[in-house]
Amino acid sequence: MAKYTPMMEQYLKIKAEHKDAFLFFRLGDFYEMFFDDATLAARELEITLTKRDGGKEEPTPMCGVPYHSAANYIKNLIDKGYKVAICEQVEDPKIAKGVVKREVVQLITPGTVMESNMLEEHDNNYIASLSHFDDGSYVIIYNDLSVGENNIALIPGGWDAVMHELYNQPIKEIVIASDLPDTLKEDLHKKLNITLSYQDETTFNAEYRSLCANLNDERLVQAFSRLLNYIEDTQKRSLDHLQPAQVIKLDNYLSLDMYSKRNLELTETIMKKGKHGSLLWVLDQTVTAMGSRMLKKWLDRPLLNHQEIEGRFDTVEGFLQGFMERDTLRETLKSVYDLERLAGRVAYGNVNARDLIQLKQSLEKIPELKAVLTQFDKEKIMELSDKLSFPEKLTSLLSSSLKDDPPVSITEGSIIKDGYHDKLDTYREASRNGKQWIAELEQKEKQETNIKSLKIGYNRVFGYYIEVTKANLHLLPEERYERKQTLANAERYITPELKEKEQLILEAEEQSVDLEYNLFLEIRDQVREHIPEIQYLAEVVSQIDVLQGFATVSEANQYKRPEFSKNRLAIKNGRHPVVEQVMKNDAFVPNDILLDQETSILLITGPNMSGKSTYMRQLALTVIMGQIGCFVPCEEAELLLFDQIFTRIGAADDLVSGQSTFMVEMLEANHAIANATENSLILLDEIGRGTSTYDGMALAQALVEHIHNQIHAKTVFSTHYHELTALEDSLDRLKNIHVRAEEYEGNVVFLHQVKDGAADQSYGIHVAKLAELPSPLIERANTILRQLESNNESNAVEAGQLSFFAETEQAKPNKNQVSQSTANVVKDLKDMNLFEMTPMDAMNALYQLQKQAKED
Ligand code: ADP
Repeated sequence: MAKYTPMMEQYLKIKAEHKDAFLFFRLGDFYEMFFDDATLAARELEITLTKRDGGKEEPTPMCGVPYHSAANYIKNLIDKGYKVAICEQVEDPKIAKGVVKREVVQLITPGTVMESNMLEEHDNNYIASLSHFDDGSYVIIYNDLSVGENNIALIPGGWDAVMHELYNQPIKEIVIASDLPDTLKEDLHKKLNITLSYQDETTFNAEYRSLCANLNDERLVQAFSRLLNYIEDTQKRSLDHLQPAQVIKLDNYLSLDMYSKRNLELTETIMKKGKHGSLLWVLDQTVTAMGSRMLKKWLDRPLLNHQEIEGRFDTVEGFLQGFMERDTLRETLKSVYDLERLAGRVAYGNVNARDLIQLKQSLEKIPELKAVLTQFDKEKIMELSDKLSFPEKLTSLLSSSLKDDPPVSITEGSIIKDGYHDKLDTYREASRNGKQWIAELEQKEKQETNIKSLKIGYNRVFGYYIEVTKANLHLLPEERYERKQTLANAERYITPELKEKEQLILEAEEQSVDLEYNLFLEIRDQVREHIPEIQYLAEVVSQIDVLQGFATVSEANQYKRPEFSKNRLAIKNGRHPVVEQVMKNDAFVPNDILLDQETSILLITGPNMSGKSTYMRQLALTVIMGQIGCFVPCEEAELLLFDQIFTRIGAADDLVSGQSTFMVEMLEANHAIANATENSLILLDEIGRGTSTYDGMALAQALVEHIHNQIHAKTVFSTHYHELTALEDSLDRLKNIHVRAEEYEGNVVFLHQVKDGAADQSYGIHVAKLAELPSPLIERANTILRQLESNNESNAVEAGQLSFFAETEQAKPNKNQVSQSTANVVKDLKDMNLFEMTPMDAMNALYQLQKQAKED
């Protein structure tokens, strides 16, 4: 049987070690892919699939991308969640015996990309790792290689808690143990859309001792080792830019489960999955990418510490009052580049001279920034200013060494300033003198030959040459000139003298380029020592940016500084921060809300579309805004510090997991009651809607009672079951409120005003009318409704009679007494296929049965 060619053998051997990645196999000027990799890559990258003789009878499928444009193709694959293993020739093909040696030099994965074109400027790019321990706890580590950050969270609860924590984080890839159960792997991959990677080695590598300085729990160290081992394996370089791991104490933050993160549309909307229309969209008035990334982190973890929140408020207030100064501050911040990512690239070794110039320009802004901050003349802002220390040594290193406008490449010179290094100056002088000499030679040749158009030029292939147009050739004394190249209307020559000088110039240039490269590496290493300093600056600048952003948005929308109370939440004329932005002309109707010791549950009724869920969301968003330190949309607010928020809002089906609305409803409700404390906020919108009326109502009532009697969490509960409003009588801390709507000439007019008491009717058909359903249909619905309402009444009467007769002998069911028409009713009832009926069909059929029964 035919065997694979030696090169194919080599390919297959390397591919076997990188099964879950595309193997980019270097062949000359191309990266080639073979077999399944080739078929898949051809489809994903829309490139031509070809074949190559691999030694077997069947040709091998193959496709390839040019080496010089590989970056775009790699980005494309990474964006789709794939991994790419770069396999290079690691010996000179000229001296290789047999097949050139090749090795994988880097594994590029979604969570470990460092190239700025592959990173989203305003998002962190996390690679996470997950470890599981015998006591049922999990440890999650977030690492952003592009900035060097490591954060560790210990999750004592089960798998659900892990999913809630991971949801909505910018995680591209997660490193797990290969024996994690398949269902959990699927949760991560399918529900959270994260690329999976495996690492079973969790032994601690002493090299990383300093990174573990803050970890006093063996489980954390072990979990961290899993991640570090993976990163080292894939990146094949040292990880010395990583910062020591910080433990995130989840108890220090307001916790939002994944339902709330999604339902409240904090960073993206449910429908369009974009920032537009989210709370972040309104609040993000940051001017730096670092600030914008930090704002997202704050939104993900609002604070619980009162003092810390007041500290943020003080700063925002200061920024708000200094209007002119804030303008200057924003301008100054605009010229600060992404210090955090620049520091990451310095450490990682892929920084170029332009990056370092950006670093220098940013550092030079620090004194200006401090000066502006001082002008606000506020204690909290001064504290921030004091934290910014100008790295003088680093800045002067960069400004004395690097040219202001260096090229992207670091191997072609023109990076280092004159006067920075003696030897470099000497080379440059030699090359400059040489060029001067050539300019003089040109003059001399012109005079001697009397050819005015004679010129001396240079190209890479022939070096320096003397060019004479064909028309002037007769003027040239042949003997000194050696012909090198013929063009359409000119000839190019060299002379021994020119060649000799060329040698000197090129040598000097080559040496100076080499030297520049080495000097650049030296400078980079020096900058590397300042990384912690740069990272700290980045952190402070980001904070300043987020807080000035809060002031900017608070001013634009007239947000107010809230106060925190121990037992009362009172918001006067509160607004929904996003809806009010989308509505024009101040059309948003503000509303009050009050929850205190007497009232812990608000039961809100009102027609569909009247604004119930808006009212509930606005409360949650106001609470979150307050706890991240931003002012809030209202006239006056007293807030409570909530430990957790739970929501069941809106009808968005969980399409990803394929669960029905009702199942999701129940899961969300269960999650809330299982975890809420008396310091939590629960928002339940139309619970029980997804099932039949009595089921739904019964569940809703039981839930409200449970929260009222057992949990004591502050709760807003909206419902269209008017029957539930009677709960006000039995539950002493429950209060009815409703959103007002009025009927005007047969149409419903929504006033969006929240008032005390229960709503009087539900206006469902009015809303259908507004939605322009055909008018015969609307009329029919009205008729049915009237019938249903009158039947309801007669039912009640009948129910009363039944109970009366129940006490007498007559009322006992007696087989012989069942008439023919009752038998028909029973038969019809038995024949009914309930699962194929809509609720409306069922209602109609029931109505018919009842009519028949009554005729009996
Ligand atoms: P419900 O939950 O009662 O069905 P929504 O809260 O979804 O109603 O509100 C329906 C629409 O009414 C919203 O999309 C919004 O445009 C408008 N709306 C809600 N509350 C207000 C308000 N306070 N002021 C102005 N318009 C509002």
